[in-house]
Amino acid sequence: MVISAFDVVKKQIDIVAKEMGLDPNIAKYLKRVERSLIVTIPIRMDNGDLEIFEGYRVHHSTVRGPGKGGLRFSPEVNLDEVKALATWMTWKCSLLNLPLGGAKGGICVDPRKLTRSELERLTRRFTSEIINMIGPDIDIPAPDVNTNAQIMAWIMDTYSMNKGRSIPGVVTGKPIEIGGSIGREQATGMGLYIIFEAMCEKLGLDLKAQKIVIQGFGNVGGTIAQILFEQGCKILAVSDISGGIYYSEGLDIDKLLDWTHEGNYLKDYKDDRYKLIKNEDLLTIECDCLVPAALENQITINNARAIKCKIVLEGANGPVTPEADRILFEKGIHVLPDILANGGGVCVSYFEYVQDIRAYFWSLDRINKELKRIMLEAFEEVYRIAKERNIALRTAAYIIAVSRIARAIELRGFFP
Ligand code: NAD
Repeated sequence: MVISAFDVVKKQIDIVAKEMGLDPNIAKYLKRVERSLIVTIPIRMDNGDLEIFEGYRVHHSTVRGPGKGGLRFSPEVNLDEVKALATWMTWKCSLLNLPLGGAKGGICVDPRKLTRSELERLTRRFTSEIINMIGPDIDIPAPDVNTNAQIMAWIMDTYSMNKGRSIPGVVTGKPIEIGGSIGREQATGMGLYIIFEAMCEKLGLDLKAQKIVIQGFGNVGGTIAQILFEQGCKILAVSDISGGIYYSEGLDIDKLLDWTHEGNYLKDYKDDRYKLIKNEDLLTIECDCLVPAALENQITINNARAIKCKIVLEGANGPVTPEADRILFEKGIHVLPDILANGGGVCVSYFEYVQDIRAYFWSLDRINKELKRIMLEAFEEVYRIAKERNIALRTAAYIIAVSRIARAIELRGFFP
């Protein structure tokens, strides 16, 4: 059975609503998004043909501030997925206590099949189509799967051209030269590391001795792989959309990053010691820490029992379904939930937004210090509640995040 990402979201709300005794009226409201826009994007391809793409932007909740959330370019993108991702952004911003709401967007496209000029036209036309739904005090997009700093630069430029002045605060994850923040590109991986280190400390584990398996080798998976490799951890396996590679003595992550940064797939990397594996098989390799850092719904009722690790560090959004969560909890596996573990990206995006608005830029040292403070404050609170109530870390994180949203709704009341 195919599980819809938004069904997962609704189940997660039910679980936390029961645990915290949430007002059923608020729970009902939180299972809906504030607004969603579907746009048609006609693009003249380089060969003269017209191609039509579909794009989405969703605001789940702006009760605590402007929407914040990434933009995803992928053939699998659909409205249901974008609604789920927007909702997770609401919880993430709330858990980290950022004055931002939850939003997300995407275009159903395989960007690898487009030329650079086609990709630029697609991005610019999409930006024009959603122009009334974004803005520094409305909703601020950022990179996500298959989008990057260049795409953010095109969005910022299109928005600015339409408004008649430069408005860098409309997107985050921009190039540093046009108002991006130092440290943003590595921020999600850095945040994962901060949370993993804190968890190792709680469990009395020596971080450097941990054996790691990572699904996804893009911004998030690649960065956490590099940081842990530098720390001396053995990275047993990594994968991208083409499949995975495994070596029981630990992969050379620097060489693999050079290879993939040149535009190559992991499956084509040549080293006689490395074994090719399927993405499904990667997830069940015996290790200390499994990092799903690709897509949602990867650890499900079908494979959760076969997972053999101590810690699941969620780099991706929504990689573990609620049924799988229950199984992992029963097995004693600690799942560091997405809304906490991968919050480093939105945290530094928030710093970028603040820097753009104030037109005053911070040092890397200040960025990293503030990031660590925010991530660790959230971690300590989540860990404490999970211990006190003997519940999963995810449920504890949701209790904090949903309580803050519910309180904001209560204080603001329902208009009119
Ligand atoms: P990315 O495009 O940089 O990398 C995605 C990686 O996943 C690539 O290596 C790709 O080949 C691989 N992949 C795609 N489909 C796959 C599949 N079916 N099986 C295995 N691997 C597959 O994207 P990213 O920014 O690293 O995002 C990865 C995940 O992290 C997403 O869930 C995203 O929402 C989440 N996330 C990203 C950020 C961020 O700052 N970029 C922040 C928080 C969460």
